[in-house]
Amino acid sequence: MSGQAAAAPGRDLRAATSGAAAMLPGTTGSGQQTTLGVMGGGQLGRMFVQAAQSMGYFTVVLDPDVISPAGLVSHYHIQSDYRDEQGLAQLMQRCAAITTEFENVPAPALITLGAHRPVAPSAEAVGIAQDRIKEKAHFVRCGVPLAPYAVIENAAQLAAVADDLLPGILKTARLGYDGKGQARVSNRAELAAAWADLKNVPCVLEKLLPLQAECSVIVARGWDGACVNFAPQRNLHRDGILAVTQAYEGNMAAALAERAVAATKAIANELQYVGVLCVEFFVLQDDSEAAQALGTLIVNEMAPRPHNSGHYTLDACDLSQFDLQVRTLTGLPLLQPRQHSPAIMLNLLGDLWAGGVSPPWDQVLALPGAHLHLYGKLKASKGRKMGHLTFTGATVAEVRTTALAAARLLGMDAF
Ligand code: ATP
Ligand code: MG
Repeated sequence: MSGQAAAAPGRDLRAATSGAAAMLPGTTGSGQQTTLGVMGGGQLGRMFVQAAQSMGYFTVVLDPDVISPAGLVSHYHIQSDYRDEQGLAQLMQRCAAITTEFENVPAPALITLGAHRPVAPSAEAVGIAQDRIKEKAHFVRCGVPLAPYAVIENAAQLAAVADDLLPGILKTARLGYDGKGQARVSNRAELAAAWADLKNVPCVLEKLLPLQAECSVIVARGWDGACVNFAPQRNLHRDGILAVTQAYEGNMAAALAERAVAATKAIANELQYVGVLCVEFFVLQDDSEAAQALGTLIVNEMAPRPHNSGHYTLDACDLSQFDLQVRTLTGLPLLQPRQHSPAIMLNLLGDLWAGGVSPPWDQVLALPGAHLHLYGKLKASKGRKMGHLTFTGATVAEVRTTALAAARLLGMDAF
């Protein structure tokens, strides 16, 4: 059967996962079930597992936590460190193919797995996405405009920073997320202090740009290079964390949307990427100096996996970003997804559980077109992503009305 064939070490991964050799779901002739693995047990892993299971795959999650959102719903959970050789061996033994749900998986683990099983995205692509310095170099290679920046890895580079990068944002090269590992600095003294606060780890300093809006594009690219995409979604961040995603026609100028999709595909193609990739963009204020110098659309960063801004695809599209993750991994056909409803997604952060009280779901779920997704996290804390809420409806006006009503009920700011 194809899953078994694909599981043989040293096979050509393309051959193993394309066309007739796709890892088909469900029971095989020999009574075995094709099993897919995911590194990481967070909510993205959970939604991958759910998509895979709904197609008949068995799933394995590798995550060190006893209780993780994905581990709770997977057929198997290997509780081990990401670098633990025994854990990785178990994962390979069980799985026909392996994906990842977060970009900070140690690269050596993906290299080990990739030597024996189809792994998508590759260790190389993940290695680039997990390091802002490499990521920016990749964007430059692709010819996509990005914020002016400087690499700061030593005192000489700190001293050599050009004045026009200030005010700016200092970001650690590795391990940042949700605005963590970042500091806004307005002058050289603040820059030096911020770098010391970040323990002098390798960083990039980015010029602070005048944003009009933010958006992201999600593509899925197969082993054969076929690439499909969702339309760009418009994102609102609060305190460095995604708060609201609006996905419908007219959410941004058509010409910009087209450029964002083309840039994302170029970024994926240049990496020979396999899997789901999200690229985040800034839209600069039209009349700003920065927009005149750089153009209106600026690439921010990429995520080598499904993305929070694509969660609306679960309820508003005929194929979700997680369905496409399964299809890319297994070599099943990739089709251009179709969005069948306008959608607005609200992120549900732990702040909504203030005082240990559950939000008024009964009232929220009385709103038409509400789709509640909670990730099974037992403890709510400030800024922790507990779930999301997507509104779909017949018209954009209807979806805006219900999403704003929900925001009011939840005590969230309007948008
Ligand atoms: P994520 O959770 O998306 O991985 P992150 O911690 O990697 O976030 P960034 O995406 O780099 O952080 O930045 C978070 C937010 O800060 C951006 O979405 C944007 O709102 C703002 N921001 C970042 N860089 C700049 C910049 N150069 N100019 C203006 N605003 C910026
Ligand atoms: Mg970001």
